[in-house]
Amino acid sequence: MKGKQVGVIGGGQLAWMMAAEASKLGIELIVQTPSQEDPAVSRANDVVYGNIDDAITTAKLAQMCDIVTFENEFIDLEALQQLAQTGVCFRPSLDSLTPLLDKYDQRNYLQKINVPTPKFGLYSSPENIVANYGFPVVLKARRHGYDGQGTFIIKDIEGLNKLAAKIPIQELLIEEFVPFERELGIIAARNELGAIAVYPVTETFQKNQVCHWTITPADVTEEVETKVKAIARTIMEKLNVIGVFGIEFFLTKDNRVLVNEIAPRTHNSGHYTLDGCHTSQFAMQLQAVTGMSLGSTELKSAGALIVNLLGFEESDSDYQEKRDREASRRHRILEISNSLVHWYGKSSRPGRKLGHVTVILNKEELTQAKSIIEQIESIWYGNK
Ligand code: ADP
Repeated sequence: MKGKQVGVIGGGQLAWMMAAEASKLGIELIVQTPSQEDPAVSRANDVVYGNIDDAITTAKLAQMCDIVTFENEFIDLEALQQLAQTGVCFRPSLDSLTPLLDKYDQRNYLQKINVPTPKFGLYSSPENIVANYGFPVVLKARRHGYDGQGTFIIKDIEGLNKLAAKIPIQELLIEEFVPFERELGIIAARNELGAIAVYPVTETFQKNQVCHWTITPADVTEEVETKVKAIARTIMEKLNVIGVFGIEFFLTKDNRVLVNEIAPRTHNSGHYTLDGCHTSQFAMQLQAVTGMSLGSTELKSAGALIVNLLGFEESDSDYQEKRDREASRRHRILEISNSLVHWYGKSSRPGRKLGHVTVILNKEELTQAKSIIEQIESIWYGNK
């Protein structure tokens, strides 16, 4: 089999989850990551240490494997293009990634291929906001944003002035604030033969721009489901993707579906696939990039939810004491039936994604998904 050794740029929890799937598929996974503390280090077959955007480290990685794939898009594309010219096989290809890495370029690309997105532009002036967007309005860093870092929802001129005092807002992407009804996500895969597999549509819930939970399948009409899946297929086809992408959407009250963002890799909205589906998004990425046939995207049961376990919103407690509390809460969560906890082994920081809980749902439990989420969140965040 080609691709017995796969290199991954990025060593966070996504690569950590991919590493477990790699060993099941008989693939050796080698990660490029900056720190020994990064989650995937403990599970990878080998590690090359270096920053994500350090192409010299990627050149070393490439020497150790047949194929290089991504768990993180904060790469130096130009430097990697030089490596591609020397024969390094990137999957997805760098051409597939080029229109996506900058959020403004990504919006332009989506517009070009007729995929609906929020109205957008580049920030120019307060007058332009008033004339073309109104408040609230959303400003976003064009690159390197994650978990809402770099996304600013601005309520009024005063908020705009405060932001301008902190960062250079001239360089930001500006877009209309979408008063969405819900947020949705989907994971899609494509292999080199052009076969596409899409997973069920997921409802995602973000608070302060950070994902707190997901429920799959999302309770949406067939029409919405069809639209989301059609958009996912269009994106995968037009970009000639070989790999797995996560796509996030806004669903409006009048059932319009707008793409918020394409992540050119596995995604938090697809974590449920690890325990919930026949083929996880992590196995799927490995299968797609190594030329294997794509697996089944079907759920194993009626549904699945996940709740992210974020670092407690406090920073003053003793490290060990905090670890003990986290461990005991994890045990209490495991008492919920059909729950599984994935703990990434990262050091704790307020708001940081430390792990997630999956709960597999039967048909009757699907209607109780939100109360199960509440129960988990009250165990995790309650009685600080
Ligand atoms: P990141 O790339 O850091 O995940 P996103 O751009 O996806 O940031 O934004 C994070 C969250 O912020 C979204 O999931 C959504 O809840 C909110 N958000 C982002 N853009 C908009 C928008 N145009 N209108 C309303 N809410 C938005």
